[in-house]
Amino acid sequence: MKFAEIADTLEKLERTSSRIQIVAILTNLFKKVIEENKDLIDKVVYFIQGKLWPDWYGYPEIGIGEKGIIKAISLAAGVREREVEELYKELGDLGLVAERLLAKRPSGGLMAFVQQKRDLTFEKVYDTLKRIAFMQGEGSRDLKIKTLAGLLKEAKPKEAKYIVRFVQGKLRLGVGDASIIEALAHVAGTTKDVVERAYNLRADLGAIAKIAVTEGPEALKEVKPKPGIPVRPMLAERLHDPYEILKKLGGKGLAEYKYDGERAQIHLLPDGKVIIYSRRLENITHSYPDVVKYTKASLKAKEAIVEGEIVAVDPDTGELRPFQELMHRRRKHDVLLAMKEVPVHVKLFDIIYVDGEDMTTKPLPIRRKRLEEAVQQREEFGLATGKIVESPEELEAFFRQAIADGCEGLVVKAVHDKSVYQAGARGWLWIKYKRDYKSEMVEPVDLVVVGAFYGKGKRGGTFGALLMAGYDEKRDAFATVCKVGTGFTDEELAKLPELLKPYISEGKPPRVISNIKPDVWVRPALVAEIIGAEITLSPIHTCAKDAVEPGSGLAIRFPRFVRWRPDKGPEDATMCREIVEMYKAQLHRIEEA
Ligand code: ATP
Repeated sequence: MKFAEIADTLEKLERTSSRIQIVAILTNLFKKVIEENKDLIDKVVYFIQGKLWPDWYGYPEIGIGEKGIIKAISLAAGVREREVEELYKELGDLGLVAERLLAKRPSGGLMAFVQQKRDLTFEKVYDTLKRIAFMQGEGSRDLKIKTLAGLLKEAKPKEAKYIVRFVQGKLRLGVGDASIIEALAHVAGTTKDVVERAYNLRADLGAIAKIAVTEGPEALKEVKPKPGIPVRPMLAERLHDPYEILKKLGGKGLAEYKYDGERAQIHLLPDGKVIIYSRRLENITHSYPDVVKYTKASLKAKEAIVEGEIVAVDPDTGELRPFQELMHRRRKHDVLLAMKEVPVHVKLFDIIYVDGEDMTTKPLPIRRKRLEEAVQQREEFGLATGKIVESPEELEAFFRQAIADGCEGLVVKAVHDKSVYQAGARGWLWIKYKRDYKSEMVEPVDLVVVGAFYGKGKRGGTFGALLMAGYDEKRDAFATVCKVGTGFTDEELAKLPELLKPYISEGKPPRVISNIKPDVWVRPALVAEIIGAEITLSPIHTCAKDAVEPGSGLAIRFPRFVRWRPDKGPEDATMCREIVEMYKAQLHRIEEA
């Protein structure tokens, strides 16, 4: 398949932000792939997402920094590095620099002429980038650069632009999973629900695309979870009133401690291998050799996928420790030392798959029983503390007990016949009931950084405030809620420029909805927990615009930074519709008082 087809598609995608058009452009591309070589579909899907493969493969990255790219462009275009750098300063985008310089390159003899005449294929681009990623060890830096330069030499200027942006991780297309799913449904002749269901159970969009186009919709419907491939996690809604919670669940629920740790999806493969995925489906196995050991010793199955929360415990008292300590462990390079300093326990709460059986379609009581059977419980690896509750009083008492035991609150779960495991969905089958933070705004929210403002005075040289957004699920975009400048320690402030650097964007990123123009735009990637005094109507902020009152959005007043949430991706941020719920709950509380 000609790479020019991909480059043209990328160009079209770049020029639109309309969801309908994005889906149409992708549908056309996928049709072409099917005509030319169906087997390429997975790679094309990853490429469009700006990746060579899903993150959870844990494969190496391409690993060429800005300097290396500059060198590769200079080699390919036959100009001095200085010239590349100067043009970069002027244009601010290495993709454009490559495009411009390669258009001007001398024809460079017969070989170069022949090379440029031949059409560059997508296969060649993909395979070369993959080879570059896997070049490791001594001398690999130079080899990576030379190989990239070779590829750029063969590329037409526009193609070079996109190759460079891809290598830099800056395709900036604004194509979300939802658009790809919709386009796949079109070409496979099925509904988006069928594709989405399969994707929820096997979070590998490329692999799902391959099933869709090579085997068809019936095969998609047969997709089950498969140990080794992460399952998109089921998520909870939130409520603040025990009475309302029980009403939603039909009068009865399984109340479980809500542990403040790191969610872990633990896969046991038939060959005995254990893989642990985080809430964002990254492979975090290397951080938890102890959990691997406990799993091998305690899980009585040939293959299984179970879910639980990894919690830090005090090595002396065995009491639960706060979430930050766990993150501290994740950052430590010496895992064995970290294991000693921050021992962990696993509190299991679900079973998704076991020995050939897809458990996601079974009601919770059956899953919970199967989980009990599958686990040889021990202190380090046991089931989450839980209890069936049938009255608000019982629920409230259990909530207090959970707080006293160092938990954040409860997750109360439906136990009726339809209480299936809803992979990839936030729904009312699980309801979280979290502790009151004793301010008007009862609980913190997780917001995405979309912009930053330069600091003044003491904060000169760094940023003074961040523009934060919630996730608007319907528009698959990020809408602003507040500007946060307090709550950061000096150290956190000093680190901001470095932290934001990889995500800085020249213009407004495609999926950001904002009426405010920050000093720098930031691509949605970093999530922070924010607590504020209250939620108010706002004429400026775009979160939940028109949802409560025509012309108004919602804002958080007096926001304060609490902590970074590196375990969350931008789409995991608090949704605008949840902020509406919080606003309404707040009004309700004010009325009651
Ligand atoms: P939060 O920021 O409140 O942790 P979240 O967005 O990560 O929420 P939710 O589905 O809204 O995820 O809340 C449930 C989260 O609580 C799970 O992702 C999981 O990490 C954690 N958790 C702790 N204990 C339990 C439990 N017993 N059952 C389910 N989830 C639990």
